[in-house]
Amino acid sequence: MKLSLFHRKIAKEEPALTKTKTQLFRETYYPHASNLEWDDWKWQLSNRITTKEELMRVLNLSEKELNAFSTEISCFPLSITPYYASLIDKNDENQPIRRTVVPVEDEHLVSSIEMQDPLSETSFSPVPGIVHRYPDRVLFLTTNFCSVYCRYCTRSRMVGNHQYYNTHEQWEKAIEYIKSNKNVRDVLLSGGDPLTMETEQLEWLLSRLSKIEHVEFIRIGTKVPVVLPQRINIELVNMLKKYHPLWVSIHFTHPDELTEETRTACAMLADAGIPLGSQTVLLKGINDNVETMTKLCHKLLKARVKPYYLYQCDLVPGSAHFRTSVHTGIDIIDGMRGYTTGYAVPNYVIDAPNGGGKIRILPESIVGKSGDNLLLKNFKGDIYTYPDIIKD
Ligand SMILES: *Cc1c(COP(=O)(O)O)cnc(C)c1O
Repeated sequence: MKLSLFHRKIAKEEPALTKTKTQLFRETYYPHASNLEWDDWKWQLSNRITTKEELMRVLNLSEKELNAFSTEISCFPLSITPYYASLIDKNDENQPIRRTVVPVEDEHLVSSIEMQDPLSETSFSPVPGIVHRYPDRVLFLTTNFCSVYCRYCTRSRMVGNHQYYNTHEQWEKAIEYIKSNKNVRDVLLSGGDPLTMETEQLEWLLSRLSKIEHVEFIRIGTKVPVVLPQRINIELVNMLKKYHPLWVSIHFTHPDELTEETRTACAMLADAGIPLGSQTVLLKGINDNVETMTKLCHKLLKARVKPYYLYQCDLVPGSAHFRTSVHTGIDIIDGMRGYTTGYAVPNYVIDAPNGGGKIRILPESIVGKSGDNLLLKNFKGDIYTYPDIIKD
């Protein structure tokens, strides 16, 4: 019953005349799953692909991918929902979505500049589960579980790791910390993925946090609408909308992720009055060109998601094969600004190693001075002067 609205068509997209990739994949690999099962987020979770054998059932693995499993080193866990697996190309190891979730041998190459905890979150953690880096807001790591593990994960040190399992007792201490710090006006729930928790669990947290007078708004960081869109059901959005102002930041990577299922999930959140932003990691060979990034951001705006951050890939162990130069990021922003609306252009940031926080990287626009005039460069590279007021 709670799933019945999931198949609601959303406006202005072409009707599906041919079968989608997902439908074809289902018929081939999950022929016995009923619609009710496939559209049930718990079915998706209990049928996650987590082993090499399960992966080999649905994909032809390349040499590099097979080698990822050949080592004895305990590697970062594998997990892909059947839904997200349906978006993967069976044979092309270089397909963008495939590269983000299927391990390759390069993961075992750890360079000396990489770190277990590249953002020094542990040293900015006053109590377990809280990272307090900025004056007025905290990051609250609510769970160590995700439905899908991104191979470039910033928190690979803790996700899927039982050592970091959050107990209720830990949550109580985190809430106590927020209560006793009156300057915290903004709490960002992350993890792991908070939307993989039971609705009642999440509601318990939201209700406790929203009762704290100095907490002005709550945000949730998640990839669920992209990898487990079945989770965004009526029951969940009805619960979430009781805790306004509530914002949601969604981790998007590539335009191919904006399927009908994901657009419907975003529409349900937006219809519940939740402002949506996106966070994207810049990844080599996946989304590192102007065309792909612009396409992603345009599709996001159509789904009522404002592109918020574009991150330089953090220095997590075994991530060198994903990392671009900073100039690649600058060129992408340069290629978008002015050519499309400012709403479509994310803030490109480097989350500085050793806990420096997010630092915004911008293409240069003030290029000099001529007398009292500032020399400004527009999006086409032409120079204009602006008669600035002398600062006193
Ligand atoms: C990213 C982040 C935030 C939120 O930053 P905004 O710029 O407000 O989105 C808060 N705390 C930590 C530790 C973060 O890494």
